[in-house]
Amino acid sequence: MAPTKVLAGARVVLPTGTVDDGRVSVDGTRIAATAPGSAETLDLSGHWLVPGFVDIHNHGGGGASFAGGTAEDVLQGVRTHRAHGTTTLVASAVTGDLDFLARHAGMLAELAQQGDIAGIHFEGPFISPCRKGAHDEQLLRDPDPAEVRKLIDAAHGQARMMTLATELPGGLDSVRLLAEHGVIAAVGHTDASYEQTLQAVDAGATVATHLFNAMPPLGHRAPGPITALLEDERVTVELINDGTHLHPATLRLAFHHAGRDRVAFITDAMDAAGFGDGRYMLGPMEVEVADGVARLVEGGSIAGSTLTLDRAFKRAVTVDGLPVEDVVAAISANPARLLGLDDRIGSLEPGKDADLVVLDAGFDLVGVMRRGEWVVDPQLD
Ligand SMILES: [Zn+2]
Repeated sequence: MAPTKVLAGARVVLPTGTVDDGRVSVDGTRIAATAPGSAETLDLSGHWLVPGFVDIHNHGGGGASFAGGTAEDVLQGVRTHRAHGTTTLVASAVTGDLDFLARHAGMLAELAQQGDIAGIHFEGPFISPCRKGAHDEQLLRDPDPAEVRKLIDAAHGQARMMTLATELPGGLDSVRLLAEHGVIAAVGHTDASYEQTLQAVDAGATVATHLFNAMPPLGHRAPGPITALLEDERVTVELINDGTHLHPATLRLAFHHAGRDRVAFITDAMDAAGFGDGRYMLGPMEVEVADGVARLVEGGSIAGSTLTLDRAFKRAVTVDGLPVEDVVAAISANPARLLGLDDRIGSLEPGKDADLVVLDAGFDLVGVMRRGEWVVDPQLD
């Protein structure tokens, strides 16, 4: 049993607002309503205390892949992102051969059952060849509900989300099937029109996979999927805030239109996140990472990011100019709610898991606690 702790003196971002000189008590693995009896107190004055980050779209990190690696690779990636504040992570697969994806999902499902990851996101193979990004065109296929069902079953109850081009034949039926099974249907890598996108939302789609990226741009006579996904209040939009995928003004536009409750910051990270430049594989595709930007060796498409959510947080406040409370909503509370885990994570409230991030006054990460244990112990002087 971990010793009980009181974290005192920080600016604490609570669901009700920010409290200066706040206190958060931790008893075992949970946030406690009151300070436990014999608690050790840590002085966090001059710092921010925010909920642990929740990443619903992430392909790897620390040199290891969630899209093709072994169980040990996945754990290495999970540990890397945890050290950057991501206390809950959904592992994202990429387009691959259907039998491979089913086998891989079985391995990821075991890790999810052990609590190492919070489930599986299938990005592809049911996406549009027109908007394939870094996915292998040879392996793309139209959404077939029977094949969608095969992947859901292979994930043994741990499928959390599937990204698909809902305008393709079988797309809407696949969305309905996913919704029936409690799996988030996410519109992405799509060439859909505005009207087709609204049909997908009516059928049960609730997430926009990296809004703006891998979909038609917003046109004044062809508003396209971006407008539909921003407009419809049933949809949460993913944004990759790495400075490469989106201009800060574009990010602000999305944020202001969707409002703080309908944005989820994601990394879409690949193996180089928290690791370094070099050659990597993203599923079956070869990727070159230079200056922290990942691109396909063939064709040069952007191939995921090297982002970690602590950098996304800092950027959102210091470059994009968003309020800290809005950033906390987008990086913790909203993705936790999407996953149906908001009774346990996503905000600093008594009874929830003690998943916390400590940031200094300049929004650099100095501490991470997961389930009451320090992953990164704040070395404060
Ligand atoms: Zn992705």
